[in-house]
Amino acid sequence: MDSNETMTTFYNPSSSSSPSPATSPPPPPVIQSPCAACKILRRRCADKCILAPYFPPTDPLKFTTAHRVFGASNIIKLLQELPESQRADAVTSMVYEAKARIRDPVYGCAGVICHLQREVSDLQAQLAKAQAEIISMQGHQANLIALVCMEMDKHKQPLIHNSINLDHQSFEDDPYCFLDDISLWT
Ligand SMILES: [Zn+2]
Repeated sequence: MDSNETMTTFYNPSSSSSPSPATSPPPPPVIQSPCAACKILRRRCADKCILAPYFPPTDPLKFTTAHRVFGASNIIKLLQELPESQRADAVTSMVYEAKARIRDPVYGCAGVICHLQREVSDLQAQLAKAQAEIISMQGHQANLIALVCMEMDKHKQPLIHNSINLDHQSFEDDPYCFLDDISLWT
């Protein structure tokens, strides 16, 4: 998958200059312009042309792309075998597949699928690593809190003792020793 150049050749509407409508007569209610498929195939676009709803004359590249890979008769055959409700999706996927095949003649769509699957498994591995780090950090934090609480308790006890019995100094060896311990963890 090292061919990164995109095959997206955008249809440039600025290249087609529209003639001034001032001199032409008003258009008939139904525009009889051939669909992109019939125009490219140089055939008459019938009233019930099966290709017309999916290949409008405004987007000739769509048909050119699909035609190059699947061929017109295969496209027509495929559409005839499908219910009308699924034809638009079938055309969209055919055009997508054809684009992929033109871009990558060896792997076509399969190349895109493999690339995305690799990306998914890489991201899953990254996610698992991040989740393990979170668990480890949570454990670390819990240890730290337990340690701080323990040291605080240790620090409080002598103060209570001192308030009761000022002579008792045995706990007061080093009241700040826990700070050193904490600094090791931070
Ligand atoms: Zn047509």
